[in-house]
Amino acid sequence: MLVRSLVVRSRCPSVLTCTYSRSYRVLAIESSCDDSCVTLLDRYSPREPPRVVDELKRTLDSVDSGGVVPADAARHNSKNISVLANEALTRNGWNTPATKPDLVSATRGPGMMGSLAAGYQLALGLSVAWQVPIVGVNHMLGHLLMARMATNGKQPTFPFLSLLVSGGHTICVLSHSVTEHEILVDTIDIAAGDALDKCGRELGIKGNMIGKEMDKFLGLHREEWGQPTKLELREPMQNESHRKDVLSYSFSSFISQLRRSVVRNYGGIIPPDDKTRARMGYQIQAAIFQHMITKIKLAIHKRGLFIDEFVCAGGVASNGTLRAMLKEQLKPLGVTKFYFPDPNHCTDNATMIGWAGIELYEKGYTTDLCTTIIRKWPIDELLNLYGWHKLE
Ligand code: AMP
Ligand code: ZN
Repeated sequence: MLVRSLVVRSRCPSVLTCTYSRSYRVLAIESSCDDSCVTLLDRYSPREPPRVVDELKRTLDSVDSGGVVPADAARHNSKNISVLANEALTRNGWNTPATKPDLVSATRGPGMMGSLAAGYQLALGLSVAWQVPIVGVNHMLGHLLMARMATNGKQPTFPFLSLLVSGGHTICVLSHSVTEHEILVDTIDIAAGDALDKCGRELGIKGNMIGKEMDKFLGLHREEWGQPTKLELREPMQNESHRKDVLSYSFSSFISQLRRSVVRNYGGIIPPDDKTRARMGYQIQAAIFQHMITKIKLAIHKRGLFIDEFVCAGGVASNGTLRAMLKEQLKPLGVTKFYFPDPNHCTDNATMIGWAGIELYEKGYTTDLCTTIIRKWPIDELLNLYGWHKLE
């Protein structure tokens, strides 16, 4: 059992145990958007991935509101996050002084303020009540590190390249260590998941995560994939040479291109038959995915990177077509190992926050009690935010 001592320099209070053993229990909380998520992790060995003892998730129903309304998401998290934490702790017997968690890991940002506040304030309160440390985790770091919690010993090692693609973010990141990340490509407008959701809605797909529902719908019509349509979709930023060379994404034009094409070539009405809609859906998906990959290839080329490990995470990373396109186009550039978390851990979840908390904690990082949530927190500024304590 390894015992380490902590040196604390900050004047801001924190709850820090002076020692910790390598075997400990973690309560993880994620509430950055419309999901209330809680996970219990047992870090029983430093050499094995932690055991996932319990995972609970409750998602806001946004089917009728046409997208996530921040005030509704805040209310959803305020009402649910404590209930879920209580349920997980009691039903697993982690609710006595002898069995309570030794560490709390919670999303501090980026995300919607009301949603973040619900989970982070609960985490601070539990840290005080239990007198255990807290790690305030960057949500995108959670997505990025998830693949390193591998169960089969196959995990990406630094440096590696990632595509983090979700409903709120689309970034290509070069990671040098748990705390050092460079954003190589970022979006100048909306995220790819948002574009998929909006295009899917135009095609009449319904649901909470429309991109996911569209993927399911397309799975029922594989024979239509790649068949011709009258949609005219061009990859953004390819028309002028100075834009072609820019390391940025732009996804908002896919929605306007789709609408324009429907007006011009379909009389303004989406054809009702499933086969035509499936052809259109596949074309939209492939165009959006191609834009992501074109810019990753450009980044590899411009930076002269020799990277053989690649992670794709975030909700959209569950998509099989995206995974296949990434493999096909990045293998010729020298990428030999691809890592995709399982679909449950691609969309927002607390397990990734628990794992990122563990990685940070074991590097010596904990977070002060006087910290607040943050709406924008780029992953390349991970340690620039106030409130970190570092073991020395
Ligand atoms: P996140 O923000 O990480 O929770 O991811 C949610 C986003 O991922 C939403 O835009 C979903 O529509 C999208 N998404 C989830 N699963 C899939 C899938 N299989 N194919 C495409 N998009 C997906
Ligand atoms: Zn996310």
